Amino acid sequence: MIEFQALADKYDTPLYLYDFNHLAQQYTRLKEAFRARKSLICYAVKANSNLSVIKHFANLGAGCDCVSIGEVKRALYAGVPNYKIIFSGVGKRDEEIKEALEKDILLINVESEAELNRVEIQAAELNKQARISIRVNPNIDPQTHPYISTGLHENKFGVDLDTAKRLYIFAKNSDFLDPVGIHFHIGSQLTQLEPIKEASAIVADLVRSLQTLDIDIKFFDVGGGLGIRYDDETLIEPYDYAQAILSTLTGLDVTIMCEPGRFLTANSGYFLTRVLYEKTNGDKRFVIVDGGMNDLIRPSLYNAYHKIEIIGKAEDEETSECDVVGPVCESGDFFAKNIRLPLTRHNDLLVIHSAGAYCATMSSNYNTRGRVAEVAVEDGKDRLIRRRESFEDMIALEKDYLKD
Ligand SMILES: *Cc1c(COP(=O)(O)O)cnc(C)c1O
Repeated sequence: MIEFQALADKYDTPLYLYDFNHLAQQYTRLKEAFRARKSLICYAVKANSNLSVIKHFANLGAGCDCVSIGEVKRALYAGVPNYKIIFSGVGKRDEEIKEALEKDILLINVESEAELNRVEIQAAELNKQARISIRVNPNIDPQTHPYISTGLHENKFGVDLDTAKRLYIFAKNSDFLDPVGIHFHIGSQLTQLEPIKEASAIVADLVRSLQTLDIDIKFFDVGGGLGIRYDDETLIEPYDYAQAILSTLTGLDVTIMCEPGRFLTANSGYFLTRVLYEKTNGDKRFVIVDGGMNDLIRPSLYNAYHKIEIIGKAEDEETSECDVVGPVCESGDFFAKNIRLPLTRHNDLLVIHSAGAYCATMSSNYNTRGRVAEVAVEDGKDRLIRRRESFEDMIALEKDYLKD
């Protein structure tokens, strides 16, 4: 039981809370599911990049999947060893590639022929061999939201199978490239096993055909994307997920890597916000809260559903339809539309669930609202893991450039 009211009183609102015991539980469930093989779980840092969250996973043995050099540096700073860090993403600057090579991370995950050429040039300049994996786009429909589908040719990610093969041959013949991994990631919030299994089978066949060319793939990276329950979704069990993947790898001696983000963090997180007041426009009822789309943008961005709980109201209280909206000057600033809530009063506390992934990391200073504080709850104790941003923080990068 998390003491939402007490924590809201102690740290003020809006506020992010993360249940660190739940984070560990999710990690362990997944790690256990793969125990029949060598595996490395690389936490997708973009889901929640708070240093204390990363460190928590690092302590459990996790690696990290990063999509910018900034994330690579965060992972290193939080104590993730360089040999457990991979660097993905469809666009990497030369400087980012160079720094990743200098830091000698496990793998650079290459997403195009042009990128492979840039990696080779950077590696040659450093007179190093770059360990790479190539992201294959298996052209599988993951049956999820189109904004978070990534494994179709119409998406910008990865290369098709024929291109992948050609790039592996090129890399094999280069003095500066060492093709040791293969990678796919077909989308996010996956709730169906079949597309993952299909993609895995296609990529495993590619690994077998590379073997005949004397290209030895050691790391088989199945990406992230395991779905979580926001509402009433039926979920993939980690065990079934692992079995589906393992069943496609017969005869292959590879380390399995996966890159879960949402699965590890989403349901460990809560966003706490207090009611400012209510208003009605004609028949329409609005509950106006102190958190806004700059703090948690998923409803505005993807029309995402987040369960909203109101603290301290009796079960049988009368409810009516309303929109829960923030103070930001945008009509898109809402957390829920047309939900039923009892009448609220000033300072009533609302808890927005499933707020551990793609929430704090997507927050901004829009409307000159400081980013909110983040608090970890572990073994019944709470601690601050990011302080609330102040006005001074928000003007720090501009104030020295004011002209008379
Ligand atoms: C975003 C992303 C992930 C994590 O996705 P989740 O849905 O949060 O598990 C993993 N790998 C890559 C390459 C990504 O871009």
